[in-house]
Amino acid sequence: MGSAVNVFTMLEAAATRHPDEGALYLGEQRVATWRELRDRALRLGAALRDSCEPGTRIAVASENRPEIVELLFGIWAAGCVVVPINFKLHPREMADILGDCEAATVFASPKIAAELASHTDVRIEVVGSAAYLGRFDTAIQPAADVDPAALAWLFYTSGTTGRSKGAMLTHRNLTAMTVAHLADIDAPDNGCALVHAAPMSHGSGLYIPAYVLRGARQVVPASGAFDADEFLDLCAAHPGCAAFLAPTMVQRLVDTGRGAPPTLRTIVYGGGPMYVESLKQAMAAFGPIFAQIYGQGESPMTITGLRRADHQCGEDAILGSVGTARSGVEVAVLTEDGTRAAPHQIGEIVCRGDVVMAGYWNNPDASAAALAGGWLHTGDLGSFDDRGYLTLRDRSKDVVISGGSNIYPREVEEVLLAHPAVREACIVGAPDAEWGEVVVAFIVGDVAASALDAHLLERIARFKRPKRYLFVDELPKNSYGKVLKRELRARLA
Ligand code: AMP
Repeated sequence: MGSAVNVFTMLEAAATRHPDEGALYLGEQRVATWRELRDRALRLGAALRDSCEPGTRIAVASENRPEIVELLFGIWAAGCVVVPINFKLHPREMADILGDCEAATVFASPKIAAELASHTDVRIEVVGSAAYLGRFDTAIQPAADVDPAALAWLFYTSGTTGRSKGAMLTHRNLTAMTVAHLADIDAPDNGCALVHAAPMSHGSGLYIPAYVLRGARQVVPASGAFDADEFLDLCAAHPGCAAFLAPTMVQRLVDTGRGAPPTLRTIVYGGGPMYVESLKQAMAAFGPIFAQIYGQGESPMTITGLRRADHQCGEDAILGSVGTARSGVEVAVLTEDGTRAAPHQIGEIVCRGDVVMAGYWNNPDASAAALAGGWLHTGDLGSFDDRGYLTLRDRSKDVVISGGSNIYPREVEEVLLAHPAVREACIVGAPDAEWGEVVVAFIVGDVAASALDAHLLERIARFKRPKRYLFVDELPKNSYGKVLKRELRARLA
């Protein structure tokens, strides 16, 4: 047994050092001090422990709202595992995740609770309801001791097979991620703020521990989502602001034509490709406030990083890279025979270190494949230069990344193929100035695009729908009968 380090201790540290300072904000309005936030999380944790064993999975499905912070730390205080669910998913997809992780309860916003009710048997507790508020009458108990190898967060990524896989993130993983963020990317203190523009179930949420540890306030936009003007106004109203943004969101900020308020200190971008031209425009508009991360749910937010200082080099090759290995992470590029690639040679990107997940929930085969040989196999292709800067070349998985959200072709293809008039379907990503990539569907079949759109809307999240449908007589295939996506992409380019 290692020493017990519950991620909850990060909130304890902030509450001890800065008890009466503002911790949590909805827009410009203060919701809790650090002492109040710590006490609320401990009460919630004590209430959960009355009914849940340590290790119980408790899901959270909500647009961004301040309660997500108390839920995360409350669930950790109870020694339970949080399962944050992307609020943009279709209720059926949410129900699949709830079933897969065997969640005891899902804390849902009123809107999502209403949509979810007919799709799942899992107990739904509405955030802000009388039952929810009643939990805070429970007497405070100290946080549970947990082994560092105990699960803290089940991070659901979509599998290429169409089924979501839950990356098991332990307290040790989240601690390594937090330390690496503070070492490489941003060093906030209690005079700073983290503004939650991206979904708190994913990118933005993973940054909560680092900023909480340093006593930096958590600011949730009143709209619960990302609006460029609202975001810039909020950054002007709070001190020392930092935020995690998908590349599309950075573009939206630039498009406002407004400069950065002096209180906007750091923008961390990543999760999808940022084109060099867009990055240069963003730096011209907002100044030297950018840092990039490359990571994935399986090595949360932490494989390589392009540091703030790297952005000042003026070299396109560096600006177009994803930076260097993060602190505490070993990154390598492996050739097809498993040996290390030479500089500039392309191969699969792998990494290892304390930040890498323990495996996939309930999926030993996928875990063994992803973690073969003690390395996390990212499925991304890339190459190092002589100075240790990594450039992503292509994704071996054919995932389409649109506006920072991953869309897995196979999943959309399967739903399209379920339409009786569709004979063949193939999804590829087309480069797009606004979204990074957009989904394009090649269809063989006699059917209207509007009918396919309606078919998809009933079955999967809106953001996964194709932006364009192209009807063709046949799909190009190789001699094994496999569709040549490369050829389809070339037609689009
Ligand atoms: P997810 O697990 O949903 O976070 O998706 C992870 C994938 O997004 C990675 O495997 C990459 O393919 C891609 N990705 C993440 N960060 C970057 C980045 N900085 N630049 C380009 N692609 C990225």
